[in-house]
Amino acid sequence: MFNKRSRIKELLGTDRTGYEAVVMGWVRTFRNNQFIALNDGSTNNNLQVVVELGQYDESILKRITTGASLKVTGEVVPSLGKGQKVELKASSLEIIGDSDPEKFPLQPKKHSLEFLREIAHLRFRTNTFGSVFRVRHSLAFAIHQFFNEKGFVYLNTPIITASDAEGAGEMFKVTTLELGTPPKNEDGSIDFKEDFFGRATNLTVSGQLEGELAAMALADVYTFGPTFRAENSNTARHLAEFWMIEPEMAFYDLEDNMMLAEEFIKYIISYALTNNADDLNFLAQRLEEEEKQKPQNERSEMGLIEKLEFVTNNNFERLTYTEAIDILRESNHNKKKKFQYQITEWGVDLQSEHERYLVEKHFKKPVILTNYPKQIKAFYMRQNDDGKTVAAMDILAPGIGEIVGGSQREERLDKLVSRMNEMNISTDELDWYLDTRRFGSCPHAGFGLGFERMVQFVTGMTNIRDVIPFPRFPKNAEF
Ligand code: ATP
Ligand code: MN
Repeated sequence: MFNKRSRIKELLGTDRTGYEAVVMGWVRTFRNNQFIALNDGSTNNNLQVVVELGQYDESILKRITTGASLKVTGEVVPSLGKGQKVELKASSLEIIGDSDPEKFPLQPKKHSLEFLREIAHLRFRTNTFGSVFRVRHSLAFAIHQFFNEKGFVYLNTPIITASDAEGAGEMFKVTTLELGTPPKNEDGSIDFKEDFFGRATNLTVSGQLEGELAAMALADVYTFGPTFRAENSNTARHLAEFWMIEPEMAFYDLEDNMMLAEEFIKYIISYALTNNADDLNFLAQRLEEEEKQKPQNERSEMGLIEKLEFVTNNNFERLTYTEAIDILRESNHNKKKKFQYQITEWGVDLQSEHERYLVEKHFKKPVILTNYPKQIKAFYMRQNDDGKTVAAMDILAPGIGEIVGGSQREERLDKLVSRMNEMNISTDELDWYLDTRRFGSCPHAGFGLGFERMVQFVTGMTNIRDVIPFPRFPKNAEF
């Protein structure tokens, strides 16, 4: 067996010394032909490996370069150096993979995030991305654990779908037809009968509608899968391919939905705080240094850890869309025309600048906005008695804006059908969806959490492209 090794995190996690260990990892630095900082991805803390002077030929020492992979056997001994309790005194050392220092793009110095994005295949080897992806993993695990503890069923909804009526965003088409010469109908339109599925298909923008079908039998379900939006938004919070968590619950109203979403967010953040302390401390420090580059008035008032603890320890502010519009309209910010989009009247969709004003300037905590105008929300949201609003809820987070979008769903068949007709959504195409309202319909609700926005929030990374291993965005599908 090749891989009988100890994780560096385990070695560094105790004071225990005087035993033999085998470690494998990648060289971060090699000083004085004597001290190797070795990293194996289990933690940002490197293991100091000490090679005695004269123990190896010059020819071997020359190959211990940044990026090379090594297997080292040795005794774990107390460390005299600062910053670590133990180190490894090498008794044998094998170079598993060389790394030409002239060509390896990562040098032991600070690289910009933009540069690292261009070499995303190597950026895992930096402290920042090591931490980000370990935290991302923990959050994913915590999400499954949260729902499992609550008795939810994990549901996999289709990635290729034929429904095009969700209106959640621009879609990517999926086809096996020849691009140049697709078969045509008599009227000149493309004849999808010849296509793989015999009809037009696309990549899913949301698993919600299918989630609702399952919730009408399994009661509490959630999805956690990839979603795709061909929206041309070059922002720090939009990707063309992102992961979404979509719980859907029978016998839930808007209030139940809000309570679940808040509990859920607090749970996964607490999980990371408890289980990723080292990584979060590292990221907090990274963020603090990044903030120092900004002018005073743009810096955040709280550090990363402080912000996360604050969110887990305080109730989210709840208010209606209408109340939010009043606050925004009356704000000095609006009066002094500091918003790019002025708030003039009820009914307008909120831009991210407005959302951020509410959470960062006005309430200084996460906010749940409810009861939006029906014109700016999807057809399936439950219509309120006022005839103007629907039972929607968005959760807005500091630094990110919208992190959750959800609603109580319209369970009344007649109301749903009339709204679909108003919005020109084909009831024929969604006949299967309407069946849920025909047979044992019940109040139900759900929401979607954008996973990368959550990872951004917890890691403090400014750009969403830096919290997914290989980001997809306009004009970029590398790796
Ligand atoms: P936004 O207004 O920010 O574009 P949205 O209203 O389009 O969001 P929904 O359709 O409600 O978002 O999707 C549910 C959740 O998915 C959002 O709350 C957000 O967390 C996330 N999300 C939406 N679009 C993207 C995207 N392009 N990249 C990453 N996450 C996204
Ligand atoms: Mn959007």
